Amino acid sequence: MSTSALQRDRRTWERLAAGARPEGRAFIDGRFVPALDGGVFDDVSPIDGQVIAQVARSRAADVDAAVQAARRSFEAGPWRRMEPRDRKKILRRFAELIRVDVDRLALLETRDVGKPIQNSVGVDVANCADCIEYYAEFSDKLYDEVAPTGPDDLALIRREPLGVVAAIVPWNYPLIISCWKVGPALLTGNSVVLKPAEQSPLSSIRLAELAAEAGVPSGVFNVVPGFGEEAGKALALHPEVDLIAFTGSTEVGRLMLRYAAESNLKRVALELGGKTPQVVFADADLAEAASGIAWGVYYNSGQTCHAGSRLVVHHSVKDQLLAAIEKVAGTITLGHPLEPTTQMGALIDRGHMQRVLAYIDSGVAEGARIALGGRQALKETGGFYVEATVLDHTRNDMKVAREEIFGPVLSVMTFGDEAEALRIANDTPYGLAAAVWTADINRAHRLASALRGGTVWVNAFDRSTMATPFGGFKLSGSGRDRSPHAIDKYCDLKTVWTAYRR
Ligand code: NAD
Repeated sequence: MSTSALQRDRRTWERLAAGARPEGRAFIDGRFVPALDGGVFDDVSPIDGQVIAQVARSRAADVDAAVQAARRSFEAGPWRRMEPRDRKKILRRFAELIRVDVDRLALLETRDVGKPIQNSVGVDVANCADCIEYYAEFSDKLYDEVAPTGPDDLALIRREPLGVVAAIVPWNYPLIISCWKVGPALLTGNSVVLKPAEQSPLSSIRLAELAAEAGVPSGVFNVVPGFGEEAGKALALHPEVDLIAFTGSTEVGRLMLRYAAESNLKRVALELGGKTPQVVFADADLAEAASGIAWGVYYNSGQTCHAGSRLVVHHSVKDQLLAAIEKVAGTITLGHPLEPTTQMGALIDRGHMQRVLAYIDSGVAEGARIALGGRQALKETGGFYVEATVLDHTRNDMKVAREEIFGPVLSVMTFGDEAEALRIANDTPYGLAAAVWTADINRAHRLASALRGGTVWVNAFDRSTMATPFGGFKLSGSGRDRSPHAIDKYCDLKTVWTAYRR
């Protein structure tokens, strides 16, 4: 993390932004290229609704060129056959270049997504570099296996790279989620075609340029910006792609499975939506819980797949807890994302902001009451901001409690006993994460094993490192990002059985 970047003021960031000419072309076979038909689309910043860049609108022919480049580089083998320690050096250099490039990457991320610049510097860029470095270290430390056999045989179980990996990612954490896929895919010797979300393509394009500068050979890391229905679909249907590593909505996740079935039965790994419950018992430390809950739903303006958007609280402490949550929410500064004191920025685009506001209206129409926020904010900026919102008196059968809002909206429900708390918490089609707040260690363990989610936090929220896997149960997907467990997704297993003559 760069200390100086964290100390810049808004004027400096605005000056840097004014002087920047973000690259919007695709990156294929080690070069920037326009779309073959010359098509572009406007990349709009949610900060103020202004166009930041014209971006190449990749379609099937562009995607095909990227996949062919990836396939050629894979078959030619300069990357997959490289000495592990040399691959490690290049990936470590890549991580270092990301750190050195923090100003540029953070600015791209903030302007594209509308997230606070301090978060882009201290969380998004920092975690992205850490992720690449983490996987770099496995290059010369990952062993394959020797199976037990009789004395005349030797059975090796070897990991081999799959070939061409299509990484299709969303807009809420473009750098981090790209690196969660690119890191283990490159570590294992695959070639990658990355399709960033149309709302946030710029940091991915820069990432590929940095990888090339670090020494990743041409064709190994390609980026095709464009729309889901065009570039995304063409990539997911492509017969030369071996794996779709997808993060996004459950709806589009279903399409990925269909595309795989309709094409070459490529593998599909899905990281999808969530509707995380925060279960709070009367014996919990309510001040701590309030902080975890408020930050857990308002960070990144609620545009986090595991945002703790459902509060399930014991009825005896609800009022006290809500007062504490509102107090914390009152300290979270909503503002211009380039202002260093801003802690909550914009929503990704006008359509999404309207969807979030419509959810709030639907909650009210179904009987919920707005206890905090509920309105569009900072209208004069031309950007897309919504206040930190609490919807009290929610029932778990309401739309706001069942569907992913993906905005700064907390739905509040109460329970009487542990069984009811568990029933409400698990009564959701999603299973990405859950949290339980209690002073009773036995209850905490009971809940941790009964809650259906890929991560269960106890007296904490959103704590993680690269060392822990991330992903979901149920409609939240399959497979895991982060940790050594993510590596297997990018490999095939081959048994090499050798018989010896005595
Ligand atoms: P999305 O599903 O609309 O889009 C994700 C990606 O898929 C984008 O690159 C998009 O262009 C592409 N896409 C869209 N339609 C497509 C199609 N028909 N064919 C091929 N590709 C297509 O999701 P989003 O709105 O960008 O992101 C928000 C969603 O992502 C939320 O549901 C959120 O929960 C989820 N998410 C999940 C995780 C996780 O790790 N589980 C992390 C972050 C976000």
